[in-house]
Amino acid sequence: MSIINLSIVVPCYNEESNIAKLFNELNKVINTLDFSCEVIFVDDGSKDDTFKEIEKISLTNNYVSGICLSRNFGHQIALLAGLEKSSGDIVITIDGDLQHPPEVIPELIQKYQEGYDIVNTRRIDDESTSFFKKKTSKWFYAFINMLSDVKVEPFGADFRLMSRETVDAFLSIKEHDRFTRGLVSWIGFNQGVVEYKANPRFSGKSSYTLKKMIKLAINGITTMSSKPLRISLYLGLIFFVTGIIYAFFILSNYFSGLNVEGWTSILITILILGGIQLLIMSIIGEYVSRIFNETKSRPLYLIKKKTRKDS
Ligand code: UDP
Ligand code: MG
Repeated sequence: MSIINLSIVVPCYNEESNIAKLFNELNKVINTLDFSCEVIFVDDGSKDDTFKEIEKISLTNNYVSGICLSRNFGHQIALLAGLEKSSGDIVITIDGDLQHPPEVIPELIQKYQEGYDIVNTRRIDDESTSFFKKKTSKWFYAFINMLSDVKVEPFGADFRLMSRETVDAFLSIKEHDRFTRGLVSWIGFNQGVVEYKANPRFSGKSSYTLKKMIKLAINGITTMSSKPLRISLYLGLIFFVTGIIYAFFILSNYFSGLNVEGWTSILITILILGGIQLLIMSIIGEYVSRIFNETKSRPLYLIKKKTRKDS
């Protein structure tokens, strides 16, 4: 056995029917590696028997352990919980639904051995990815990269390898609203990319609903950048200057005794100004709510139970 330790972190939410299969696949790969490995499953408050499945596997495989969060904290926090528990010199995070092919793991490790501290992955879409998912994810990255200060790799996934130093650096970030891909890009180090072909979900359905994707997008933008506030400032300026020019126009009409009909222009002004004000206020509100969240300094997650060996 080589001295290098590998931790594999798997966040799972309602994945009871995928875990055994994923573990099988992981095991095949692990057996070909010359490392000592640990596999950490994080049950993110699943409503099904995900944790029972994890416990079952951990009883017969002593390098497998699991933690069960007290409720659903979301994918990003589940990842963090797993990273905090990991102890390997290198840590790989992989989804629990077999969309991230475990066969790619040796490639990630090879890239690490070439000298990269973080090896990200980029998904190459195949026919099984829905048109909607392809489009939304393309827009998502275009939008984030336009608005945020840190470049996020398009079609990236939370399937990556991190060295111990980078995991520690990542864990030293204590923010509550976390957009893992942005933060990983933010910490720097030497980062490489490996491409992989995404599989269709083995079973169950994606829990990234449109609502969760929008939440992730807003998180991604507001936690990585204050550009929206600056855009609000520019919008405000544009409308202020236009308003002043228009005021001169109206006043000159007034003094030259022209009849002002006004209905259309008043309505348009009210609608546009009202809309813009609401928009800007809600952008400010987003940032205020982030400050509120951070100042509460609640723990990022709570653990309900652990697999037997750990407790
Ligand atoms: N996941 C999680 N908590 C959640 C939602 C998802 O831990 O609240 C896990 C899920 O079990 C899977 C991974 O995060 O392993 C990615 O989720 P999903 O497959 O639903 O997203 P998609 O692949 O469709 O983007
Ligand atoms: Mg998935």
